[in-house]
Amino acid sequence: MKITDVRAAGLRGATPEGGWTEELQPDDVVHTLVAVHTDGGNVGVGSVFTSENLVRAALEVLRPLLIGENALEPERVAEKLHRTTFWLGRGGSVTHTISGIDSAMWDLLGRATGQPVGRLLGGRYRDRVRPYASLLMDRPDRLVERLRPLADAGWAAFKIGWGPFGRISNQLDEQIITAARETVGPDALLMVDAGASDGAWSQGYKWALRAAAMLAEHDVVWFEEPLPPDALEDYVRLREHSPVAVAGGEVLTRRQSFLPWIESGALDIVQPDVTKVGGISELRRIGWNAHDHGVRLIPHGWNTAVGLATDLQIASALPDTDLVEYVTGSPYIDDLLTTEWSLDSDGMLAIPEGPGLGIELDLDSVSRYADVETLLGPAR
Ligand SMILES: [Mg+2]
Repeated sequence: MKITDVRAAGLRGATPEGGWTEELQPDDVVHTLVAVHTDGGNVGVGSVFTSENLVRAALEVLRPLLIGENALEPERVAEKLHRTTFWLGRGGSVTHTISGIDSAMWDLLGRATGQPVGRLLGGRYRDRVRPYASLLMDRPDRLVERLRPLADAGWAAFKIGWGPFGRISNQLDEQIITAARETVGPDALLMVDAGASDGAWSQGYKWALRAAAMLAEHDVVWFEEPLPPDALEDYVRLREHSPVAVAGGEVLTRRQSFLPWIESGALDIVQPDVTKVGGISELRRIGWNAHDHGVRLIPHGWNTAVGLATDLQIASALPDTDLVEYVTGSPYIDDLLTTEWSLDSDGMLAIPEGPGLGIELDLDSVSRYADVETLLGPAR
């Protein structure tokens, strides 16, 4: 099976807020679907966390390296793409775009062999996984209004992030966490994301240490991005002194970038994003490296239904990955597939057992947000 084409289409019209100081608008494109086409007419799909224009520019560089390649060898082909682009866009848009290509090729391999990707990665440790409802923070009264229906709907794990946290006052921070814990109840998992990769983040180590102590009093499971994403030494110190687990890594790309973070003990939980980091091939190796160093991998998943499906396959294939991020209230998560995501009575999501990523795009739904003809239509 040979690769004949690679296409891209950005999602626009319902882009959710990201909590960024320079906030996203619904028509901003930060999620782009990538389709790898083959000579037998098979198509694999992946998701990329960056704009359509940046993906198209990256594909100018990558397409000649892909056409004619064996479509059933994702890890070798992705490595070829990485190593042939040392000089062009490495770690940035090119790596982001390889993420979608690599995941699409794993999807193709699964479809060709009739197996779910998780089994092809070595075997399924679990058939279902707990999704955590991920939402932006807000003033306590507004946050409670959004948390309560989720708790009533059976969600048992929550992450609240960004918004005013760490940006206004320590008092407000604690009021937000107190209100959230009261709403979700003592048994729910509650995680907190400072979102220090926000361009306007201004807090440092001392704030993070003090905030971590406050979060511990409310039984918070992990404290995510409590420090700017390049502050490696501060992360090492914070992990040593924080009473709650320290999580991060969502903006890092390439498995090599994670080595100093894992080997220096900077994180309890490492959070690569499969739509940025280089895809499944890259994320799988980060996961095993983390495991060997006593670090858990819980994927960052603020992206699309295709990204979530990819995370589910990864969660099935890594022994410690017992949670996945589920962005609540995003049509790009809820509306793109022929089947709806649904929680079982324990608040868990089943990991699809069908071939590849185990999902099918609902083309009518996708066409509301993206140019389906460009992505999947016949070659022009
Ligand atoms: Mg985050």
